[in-house]
Amino acid sequence: MAGKLYLVPTPIGNLGDISRRTAQTLAEADFIAAEDTRVTVKLLNHLELKKPMVAYHRHNCDAAGPSILRRLEEGETCALVTDAGTPAISDPGEELVALCGAAGVTVEAIPGPCALTVALSASGLPTGRFTFEGFLPLNKKNRRTQLESLADEGRTMIFYEAPHKLRATLDDLADAFGPDRPMAVCRELTKLHEEVLRLTIREAQMHYAAQEPRGEFVLVVAGRPAQAEPGDEDAALARVEELRRAGMSLKAASAQAAEEFGVKKRALYNRTLQDSDTGR
Ligand code: SAM
Repeated sequence: MAGKLYLVPTPIGNLGDISRRTAQTLAEADFIAAEDTRVTVKLLNHLELKKPMVAYHRHNCDAAGPSILRRLEEGETCALVTDAGTPAISDPGEELVALCGAAGVTVEAIPGPCALTVALSASGLPTGRFTFEGFLPLNKKNRRTQLESLADEGRTMIFYEAPHKLRATLDDLADAFGPDRPMAVCRELTKLHEEVLRLTIREAQMHYAAQEPRGEFVLVVAGRPAQAEPGDEDAALARVEELRRAGMSLKAASAQAAEEFGVKKRALYNRTLQDSDTGR
């Protein structure tokens, strides 16, 4: 009987996020396929486990994938882990899952830490519909094409970014979406210096002009507001709420929404105050 591939998420910073099921799956698997065996051995030491390991990363997946698949077809179980977070999410794994799927080998995904969902849930931006964009392409032209394709995106957008590219990426986001778009800059999630800044793209640019970006980042950017009929005060009010959830003051949010929706700033400001007085 064929074995099974387990996708095992690992902490994105806080070892307390190792679940009982994660530890048990790692303990019971016949072998572990790891993005970097030197990183994973530290996790195994923490769990007091000793397991046979093979490397599975983006530079060897063409050869390592079929070799792991052969072992699964012979009945072994394999736990796939990456350096941090959920395998196959901006990390090695999707090709191996596809390979197993095509060969009829069962894949079981264990739920666990994933920077994108931690960031989205903490962002204060609408979570009902979102799009995960991963890392933007390095190549300037491809990067521009991807950002242009998002110009009318109404869903919340999530990006991964490295600290040394953060400033340039904030500049690109400001060009693509306008500097007043609300966003959340989520840094060092689950770690000692965890920080979630809810602000506009311009404010994020100013913040990181004044200080060096350090640590790991997820950027969550509000989608484009629905285009309403000019003068639609209800839509403008909803926009004020959205901007305030992103950290804007009532005054600034009323001014921005009034401009976007072509309504009177003062009327919007007063209605928001009235609604909060009546608990609506
Ligand atoms: N598979 C991982 C997951 O499930 O989140 C993502 C791996 S990807 C190679 C690494 C990127 O994830 C980092 O550059 C950063 O954008 C994001 N990331 C990972 N850990 C994070 C953390 N603790 N805080 C903020 N962002 C994090």
